[in-house]
Amino acid sequence: MARKKQTRGTCAFCGREMTKGGLSRHLATCPQRQEATIKANAQRGRNQTIYHLQVQDAWNGDYWLHLEIRGAATLEELDHYLRAIWLECCGHLSAFTIGYTTYTQLFDDGFSLGNDASMNISVQKLFEPGLQIPYEYDFGTTSELLIKVVAERKGKPLTKHPIMLMARNQAPVLECQECGQPAAWLCMECIYEEDEPGLLCDKHAEKHPHDEYGEPVPLVNSPRTGMCAYDGPAEPPY
Ligand SMILES: [Zn+2]
Ligand SMILES: [Zn+2]
Ligand SMILES: [Zn+2]
Ligand SMILES: [Zn+2]
Repeated sequence: MARKKQTRGTCAFCGREMTKGGLSRHLATCPQRQEATIKANAQRGRNQTIYHLQVQDAWNGDYWLHLEIRGAATLEELDHYLRAIWLECCGHLSAFTIGYTTYTQLFDDGFSLGNDASMNISVQKLFEPGLQIPYEYDFGTTSELLIKVVAERKGKPLTKHPIMLMARNQAPVLECQECGQPAAWLCMECIYEEDEPGLLCDKHAEKHPHDEYGEPVPLVNSPRTGMCAYDGPAEPPY
């Protein structure tokens, strides 16, 4: 049986295209990234710990990100980034789980209760290479992600923002259920009522008869497509 093709993405430093796992290894040795790091480290200012994160959908391996986050950034800033690039629909609550502690918005003043605590905490207090962090957005129609701390380095960040996007998956190529052309729309009624993939091209979305779950929604490069009221745009915040 042919194995499903893994999605690929492009290294932001050198432009090489690879799978998620390939990039995880490549980013450690990419000559252009090393060059950028040496240049940044020569700047004035204090060194800090900076982490390489691999973020993926917990169930669908097609969707993933490689990020670099500075140690002084908070879980809240990481949450904000994930909402912008992948998740935000109606301002649902979200949570990171590290060890026995759940970090949420519920304790924004830094207050904590039992094993729940505020997301307003810098990641350098929590992260170390090898750590795997389950993350949930929306406790009703939940999007589940897994964040892996791949590596850390000491030095200076490469951008003025708390997080830098080093690579993300290209949108998986999905076929229209009617004609096999590339799909751009998703029909929820097909999925829930007809047991069909619900994937439609522009032409077939236009004449599609279903509206019980609303019109077909645009397919965007996010694992939350088709969940709750999500309709993109699946763009990074900066
Ligand atoms: Zn590279
Ligand atoms: Zn929602
Ligand atoms: Zn079609
Ligand atoms: Zn339909």
